Amino acid sequence: MSQKPALTLYLAAPRGFCAGVDRAIKIVEMALQKWGAPVYVRHEIVHNKFVVDSLKALGAVFVEELDDVPDDRPVIFSAHGVPKSVPAAAQARNMIWVDATCPLVSKVHIEAERHHENGLQMIMIGHAGHPETIGTMGQLPAGEVLLVETVADVARVEPRDPEKLAFITQTTLSVDDTVEIVAALRARFPAIIGPHKEDICYATTNRQAAVKAIAGQIDALLVIGAPNSSNSRRLVEVGSANGCAYSQLVQRATDIDWRALEGIRAVGITAGASAPEVLVNEVIDAFRARFDTTVELVETAQENVEFKVPRILRHAE
Ligand code: SF4
Repeated sequence: MSQKPALTLYLAAPRGFCAGVDRAIKIVEMALQKWGAPVYVRHEIVHNKFVVDSLKALGAVFVEELDDVPDDRPVIFSAHGVPKSVPAAAQARNMIWVDATCPLVSKVHIEAERHHENGLQMIMIGHAGHPETIGTMGQLPAGEVLLVETVADVARVEPRDPEKLAFITQTTLSVDDTVEIVAALRARFPAIIGPHKEDICYATTNRQAAVKAIAGQIDALLVIGAPNSSNSRRLVEVGSANGCAYSQLVQRATDIDWRALEGIRAVGITAGASAPEVLVNEVIDAFRARFDTTVELVETAQENVEFKVPRILRHAE
């Protein structure tokens, strides 16, 4: 008979890698095959240390600015997107560059440009300083995109002309918080134009819905993801907001605070869109080592989205 205490792990699905992250990692791997090492990557290709370290081992070099890349080596722009000035600077230096911006982020860039051409100023719902926000705001001239992070910000924002406004959003926001911010925008600026709902992507939406489905059955939620991963941090918040008082972000099994889990019998596990499944398995194994563990899969949606890599790399597929 097992001496270990019994515990049920509720494994949320979908979780982990999304199509945009999958594509971005593939782009770096294919670029290394095509051009050899080193291939430079501007910013972490996706926000996950394990992924970044694995690519470093293959010969990728991660830098924060284009100025840190020599003219004669290829450079890849991360999945979060970049301001227009970045590819323009690469072009001016005659560099080889590959854009790994997720197509769902590019879609928001195109939306912003279209509204701008129609004479509208933009309000972006997003997190200040996040690379996706910087990249999206950088699609238009300074002052054309105003950032709001909260309902309180909506009351403070001062657009040029309240009759000529559109809104866009970061793709990895909390679905529930964003509904409130959009409602506040529509209440203050009735003429504002926006997407049907918001620009939050399918992967963010599905991962948050899966956490909501398990939140009522669990005593603790562990979200496998990085502290700088927006969608992972939102999953922690969704857990807390839906009744799971102990919701924690962990990068790997070694981050788990086992003392905080003493006496707990039901734990939810999910992973942010940039966290590989190997880290989920590592966490499950750590539970198995300490508990008589039953794993229950709770699947709320199936995903079959796939994005093509840019043409410059396709022959290497
Ligand atoms: S989280 Fe969404 S927007 Fe971001 S890379 Fe994944 S699919 Fe694209």
